[in-house]
Amino acid sequence: MKRKIVFIKRYDYGKGVVDLGEYVISYASSCSFLCEYCYLKFAKAPKKPIIYENIEVLEKELKELFLKEETKNFYFNLGETTDAFLSEKHIEVINQISELISFFAERYDRRVFLELRTKTDNILKISPLNKRKNLFYIYGVSLLPEEIISNFEKGTANLEKRIAGIKKAQELSYLIGLRFEPIIIYPVFGITYEEVVNSLKNLISLYKEIFLKLRSFLDISLLHSISLGTLRLTKKQYKYLKEKRSKLVFFEMVLSPDKKYRYSRPIRLYLYQELIKNLKEIFGKTIIDKIYLSTEFPYIWKGCNLPLRLLSAFY
Ligand code: SF4
Repeated sequence: MKRKIVFIKRYDYGKGVVDLGEYVISYASSCSFLCEYCYLKFAKAPKKPIIYENIEVLEKELKELFLKEETKNFYFNLGETTDAFLSEKHIEVINQISELISFFAERYDRRVFLELRTKTDNILKISPLNKRKNLFYIYGVSLLPEEIISNFEKGTANLEKRIAGIKKAQELSYLIGLRFEPIIIYPVFGITYEEVVNSLKNLISLYKEIFLKLRSFLDISLLHSISLGTLRLTKKQYKYLKEKRSKLVFFEMVLSPDKKYRYSRPIRLYLYQELIKNLKEIFGKTIIDKIYLSTEFPYIWKGCNLPLRLLSAFY
């Protein structure tokens, strides 16, 4: 199938949300997994996974972008419209795309980061990507507590397998992007103030266990960044999931200026602050330089004492 609209788009963060400066390359669409919160089910995307054939159009767009933008570093996201490691064919096409990008990066003297985001462990089975000049692969792995994966991310790799994937990515010298998103409040012990506080504390302790596991093998010199981002739902998703009585729809979700439902501001702030505190305790204070918030507003960054930075400036 040929892609009829542009391949490269500046990421649309939404009204008021901090711009991290990444570009999305839509070389493929859709995904065979069944994450309950996935926006692709509600978007105008093909029902079955497809990879677009007309890569020559992408090549033209890349050339125009490199000529137009004066930035020294580019950050491309290849896991937004599909899972980057969904199949061998996905990786074959990413290899072709990285060759094109590396050519332009060398010609125009730029550095490029390519984030390959996944919820699989297919890196263990698929041939490695070719090393390229001026180009860094970021193995962006989505990490959630096991109970949440098994409830809301049907068909994806479990936590243990995702961790095995990180180890393999390190062996291949890819940079690592730890993606703690979406952060989902689950299980919810009840709706009273105390029960909500206990639900949040329980969630934090589950994340702490993941941080400790990571500390035992993570090579910090390969760590590109750590993202934190709580669940966001479009109006359509929120309505649909509420009607279905999905456990994703926490009672205290509010509509934000970017037209997405999120947990309320105090709850998000509490979660981020506690997670950052734990990351600092486990990995040391300097880990703060690696942390960013995904699709959040400037006042939440401020509340977490995080300086605003572009993703291309993290490494
Ligand atoms: S793995 Fe990603 S793209 Fe696939 S269903 Fe889950 S959230 Fe959607």
